[in-house]
Amino acid sequence: MRLSMIGWHGMFKKDFPIFKKTDMVYLDTAASAQKPAAVLRAMDRFYKTAYSNVHRGQCAWAAAATKAYEAARQNVADFIHADAANIVFTRGATDAVNLVAAGMAQTLKPGDEVLISIAEHHANFVPWQQACLKSGATFQVANILPSGELDRADFARKLTPRTKVVAITHLSNVLGVLNDAAALTRSAHAVGARILIDAAQSIAHVPLDVREIGCDFLVFSGHKLYGPTGVGVLYGPADALANLPPYQFGGDMIRQVAVSETTFADAPAKFEAGTPMIAEAVGLGAAVGYLNRIGWDKIRRHEEELMEYALAELAKIPEVRLMGTAEKQSVIAFTLDGIAAEDIGFVLGKKNICVRVGHHCAMPLHAHFGRAASARISFGLYNDAADIDRFIAALREGMRFFK
Ligand code: PLP
Repeated sequence: MRLSMIGWHGMFKKDFPIFKKTDMVYLDTAASAQKPAAVLRAMDRFYKTAYSNVHRGQCAWAAAATKAYEAARQNVADFIHADAANIVFTRGATDAVNLVAAGMAQTLKPGDEVLISIAEHHANFVPWQQACLKSGATFQVANILPSGELDRADFARKLTPRTKVVAITHLSNVLGVLNDAAALTRSAHAVGARILIDAAQSIAHVPLDVREIGCDFLVFSGHKLYGPTGVGVLYGPADALANLPPYQFGGDMIRQVAVSETTFADAPAKFEAGTPMIAEAVGLGAAVGYLNRIGWDKIRRHEEELMEYALAELAKIPEVRLMGTAEKQSVIAFTLDGIAAEDIGFVLGKKNICVRVGHHCAMPLHAHFGRAASARISFGLYNDAADIDRFIAALREGMRFFK
């Protein structure tokens, strides 16, 4: 039953032109998603019919470009149930975390604490570590349980009135574990801390409602959401964005400039200095539209079935060691007894099966598990049961080769 369901959902593959003339099995969506025709068409149409710089221009193209850029902001806002005024376009999730960390670093001081988890991607680890080094604040890192879930007791112990910022992943790019962002936000707010949720992985796989989560900041990248590279999002409610100093200075982010001083525009313009990623934002808006047309019910069902099937098939291979045993969403990282992760990647790559091997920008997490590297498969809408079958067959063949 499961197989036939996944086979049916394999119909999404036709939406992605890159798969038309290839036998490539792409199991690396956690690194970056492939792009549906709807996104490619929207960007192509924009460049061919309405391209200009945004804001301030008087001609029809400038007006059309501004309208398209701001419509994309509205699409993204609707997707996470936010107001468009609370959506800042950034270069990506990394850029957005750096924006917040650089701003918060200006107010952090010795005695303050920043709390993250050991499962963070380097994008939500290093900026906070550096903000602490710069400001003299203490860098606290909450542990995870052997299952891969956040150790809530350790988190509670390390969350104190000294904590000024909590920065935590929603969905780990290695463990596939989904944190309860709303509960973590309530805990952070109870001690008066701001909280940033790294939604880089969750954004394409679970429905997000920032009104329910209630966080101060939420970041994600367009390219993991079936949109283009070079664009991402920082969401923050009005007070959080108003209290954050600008990250970069230049055109478009000012209210008034004189020789002696500059006053800044309100958010989101305050954080969008210079010419933004206009066509990329339009592409991201189209990606959101594509997902909306499919609907979360189908997206969730598709991914749950893929996950169930892949886990069942991996469980038949005794040498497979999963990174964490807790319930997973869209990502499975594993090692094989007696075979290096790099060798797995090499063998699969030779067979046109894209997986990722290494530390996945989560070195502290791998060190915590006592492993230098792992192999990771991750799912997108274009994957189907046949992809998993080919992956498992190639994995078994590779294991025979290396043993
Ligand atoms: N956070 C997580 C959990 C990620 O998986 C990634 C990318 O893999 C990032 C942040 C950084 O995203 P980007 O490289 O698009 O800025």
